[in-house]
Amino acid sequence: MYYPSHPVPGSPGGVVLASYTWADDARRWDSLPDEDRYEQALLGLCQLHGERIRPFFTGRGATQSWARDPYAAGEAAVFAPGQFTEHHPAIPTAEGALHFAGEHTSLKHSWIEGALESGVRAALEVNALTV
Ligand SMILES: Cc1cc2nc3c(=O)[nH]c(=O)nc-3n(C[C@H](O)[C@H](O)[C@H](O)COP(=O)(O)OP(=O)(O)OC[C@H]3O[C@@H](n4cnc5c(N)ncnc54)[C@H](O)[C@@H]3O)c2cc1C
Repeated sequence: MYYPSHPVPGSPGGVVLASYTWADDARRWDSLPDEDRYEQALLGLCQLHGERIRPFFTGRGATQSWARDPYAAGEAAVFAPGQFTEHHPAIPTAEGALHFAGEHTSLKHSWIEGALESGVRAALEVNALTV
């Protein structure tokens, strides 16, 4: 759970990020229809803060599943135990003229830093071929 400390533009109330969840934990949320997730998130908040917070829910919310997003196909590369060691050396390796970039090809997978690092690496690889 995250509680933004800054005011939300155009809103007199507050916003809470009730569940930022990934990997296997996110799959449980994926099994729920969007409209059922709000009650589930509220239950989590009530477990932490007590039933007294329930009246503060305005009934408005938003939910996003990256696994269901056809352009994302998940939040990031999440390796199972052993996969990183086993597969990583091959993942960023070029296949002929085909070069691979993206967080999943870096040692800092799941993070922007890894994505940027991999982009620089792939660009340098291509540049080295053309000079
Ligand atoms: C909710 C969330 C919060 C995050 N928070 C953080 C954070 O706080 N800090 C942090 O460091 N990282 C965070 N990340 C991770 C970070 O966003 C990713 O690691 C990073 O954006 C990956 O960059 P990328 O370039 O590898 O891939 P992406 O940013 O996923 O780029 C891939 C692109 O390819 C496009 N694409 C897909 N399929 C096709 C296709 N067939 N043809 C053409 N284009 C296609 C996609 O639309 C997308 O634009 C977060 C991720 C999520 C989902």
